[in-house]
Amino acid sequence: MSPVLSIRDLEVGYGEIPALHGIDLDVEKGEIVTLIGANGAGKTTTLRTVSGLLKPTKGDITFNGESIKGVKPHVITGRGISHVPEGRGIFSNLTVQDNLELGAYLRKDKITQAEYDRVFTLFPVLKARLKQNAGTLSGGEQQMLAISRALMSKPAVLLLDEPSLGLAPLMVQTIFRVIREINAEGTTILLVEQNAHMALVTAHRGYVMETGRITIHDDTKALLASDRIKKAYLGG
Ligand code: ATP
Repeated sequence: MSPVLSIRDLEVGYGEIPALHGIDLDVEKGEIVTLIGANGAGKTTTLRTVSGLLKPTKGDITFNGESIKGVKPHVITGRGISHVPEGRGIFSNLTVQDNLELGAYLRKDKITQAEYDRVFTLFPVLKARLKQNAGTLSGGEQQMLAISRALMSKPAVLLLDEPSLGLAPLMVQTIFRVIREINAEGTTILLVEQNAHMALVTAHRGYVMETGRITIHDDTKALLASDRIKKAYLGG
């Protein structure tokens, strides 16, 4: 089976300064793949390049076998890749419902009641908050909204950037439980995380990034058992 998302020899820089030095990464249909690494390793840069926000200087990205290099972000979203950015990117002055509707703006049809019900099943708290301004939600609720909004474009692949950032432990558990549920329902996921433990117990395979390079990739079982990973990313 060929990967749904494939990154080959990808180089990306900010001005003259390179951030990614030729990375290779594959995501198979139905997988959760995680990309872990320290601050500044290049994880966010990778996701932003996949979703078309940054242009690579070299290499290629294919989605279902077709190159998406140089394709505009909204076109990439329309083709089936949805990005939940670091910091969530929700519209604070709009209601929860308006934010969800914006997630569907590229669609020709309207959000169905069944889709709202799915969101309310995944995140029951959003039902009571539908008419509330998104800026008044807690950090965890904002993350729930950001994920729900991304689902409204009916993505085949969901890119998640640091969904656990700044959240209390219980909320982190909730978010990761829902990530597994969304995946079990058929959405392929590329997950960037600094919480290496949660990422590795959730994902099927993992890539480790250090200063713009992939240094290790393996099944998450093997990564969790690796002394090198334990020492560098799992606190011993
Ligand atoms: P973090 O977890 O801190 O977000 P990361 O692994 O996602 O880290 P990136 O944000 O992709 O890392 O950053 C990779 C490198 O690119 C870093 O050296 C960073 O300083 C640099 N960088 C990121 N964004 C910019 C920017 N807008 N302009 C210039 N350099 C940038």
